[in-house]
Amino acid sequence: MSLKKPIRFRNSLTLRLTLWYTGIFAVFSVVAFFLFYTLITSVIQEKTDQDLLNQAGQFSAVLAQQGIEAIEGIAVFEAQAAGEKKVFFRFLYPNGQVFSSSNMNYWKDISINKDAIAQILGGDRRVIETVSLAVSRNQVRILYAMIGPGVILQVGQSMENYTRIIEAFKGVFLATMVLLIALAAGIGWFMARRAVSGVEAVTLTAQSISGGTLEKRVPVKNRGDEIDQLAVTFNQMLDRIQSLVAEIRQMGDDIAHDLKSPLTRIRGMAEIALTTGKSLNEYETMAASVIEECDLLQDIINTMLMISRTEAGVEKPSRKRIDLAKLVKDGCDLFGATAEDRNITLFCDVPEECIIQGDARMIQRLLFNLLDNAIKYTPAAGVVKVSLSRNDKSPVVLKVEDTGIGISPVDIPRIFERFYRGDKSRSESGSGLGLSLARAIARAHRGDINVESVVNKGSVFIVNLPVSLENPPE
Ligand code: ADP
Repeated sequence: MSLKKPIRFRNSLTLRLTLWYTGIFAVFSVVAFFLFYTLITSVIQEKTDQDLLNQAGQFSAVLAQQGIEAIEGIAVFEAQAAGEKKVFFRFLYPNGQVFSSSNMNYWKDISINKDAIAQILGGDRRVIETVSLAVSRNQVRILYAMIGPGVILQVGQSMENYTRIIEAFKGVFLATMVLLIALAAGIGWFMARRAVSGVEAVTLTAQSISGGTLEKRVPVKNRGDEIDQLAVTFNQMLDRIQSLVAEIRQMGDDIAHDLKSPLTRIRGMAEIALTTGKSLNEYETMAASVIEECDLLQDIINTMLMISRTEAGVEKPSRKRIDLAKLVKDGCDLFGATAEDRNITLFCDVPEECIIQGDARMIQRLLFNLLDNAIKYTPAAGVVKVSLSRNDKSPVVLKVEDTGIGISPVDIPRIFERFYRGDKSRSESGSGLGLSLARAIARAHRGDINVESVVNKGSVFIVNLPVSLENPPE
């Protein structure tokens, strides 16, 4: 996906976060209102039922004390007092036949529920039901109860008030819901924008970087949140990329520079041979020089490849048991003659045996580079000492010391870079790749290499190598 392609609004994270927030808020609001609604309706219904039961109790008491006429009179009176549209009373024989009632003009649809009568006769003390009226939207709550021997009371109470409360509640609920959802959407949008704005800053920086400006950084707001962490990590990554790009540029320049000199020399020799060369002998000398220069070029290219492959982990060291003491002794023997030619004393201080796990060929190359440098940069009558020491668990320490020209503090941090050569060493042969390769090899063995040096006194190169490569450190 191209970074430049604008995100469509309906795909945007802001919209999705807002919708989620609003949706969750709406679901919780509906659940809360539903619970509230259930509570209100059950409270109102209980109150209505209690009223009906109280009235049945009163009629039962009056019937017992004053007889049928009294309850008939009270029924008419109570219905008028409460409102004949709101309440009615009917007195029935056990066969369901009505023998008296309040004014039933408004309650013509209300029939006698035979099942309820049967339940009362079967022993139930009361039966309560809700009946819907055909003429109005209101419902009626009806109680059947035996209030005396052979007398069943049917009392009904309109639930008009209840319906009105519920209607009002529904209205309030809907209005509040619309308001709350709009508010939730607004808050959700605001919060999502705040959260996403940090990501957008990272995206904008990434876009301008893809346009070629590696110097830009994402602004860090120092809030310590995830967006800040993302910005810091992104900026660190950019720092690393910038330094890598700079390194690659530098390396490109160095390679061009180092390959240019032998190529210019080869071309120069060929030109001279063409213009001035007369004898076969001269042509032979030129061919030998060309071969020498080509070998040098080949060596540089091979070493560069080896450094890159070792650093990238493509060239992995084998994990064979090797006797480092023997390897160092052999190295000293090999360089003994060169040292002698230059009037340098070469000491080799190694134990009988020093077994480690690693790649003999690679470690040999590391050692040879250090020995070659030590002899190369030490004037005649100097001393080069190679030593090897190990404690039981700590890494093996290989030291190559010399009493040579030393390395200036300015050069020390740079000598392990590819192609870096100290000013004082330009008179000696070399490509500036030896120490880079030595460090790549040491690190590939999970070790490292360091240097201590005093100008005109000498240098010590210290290589730490772990005994085993089996259990990598965390
Ligand atoms: P080269 O020796 O081919 O120049 P290296 O990578 O081996 O390249 O070394 C890099 C630089 O480190 C050298 O050019 C030199 O300046 C410095 N150096 C390395 N070893 C020594 C040493 N033993 N004494 C002094 N300087 C050294």
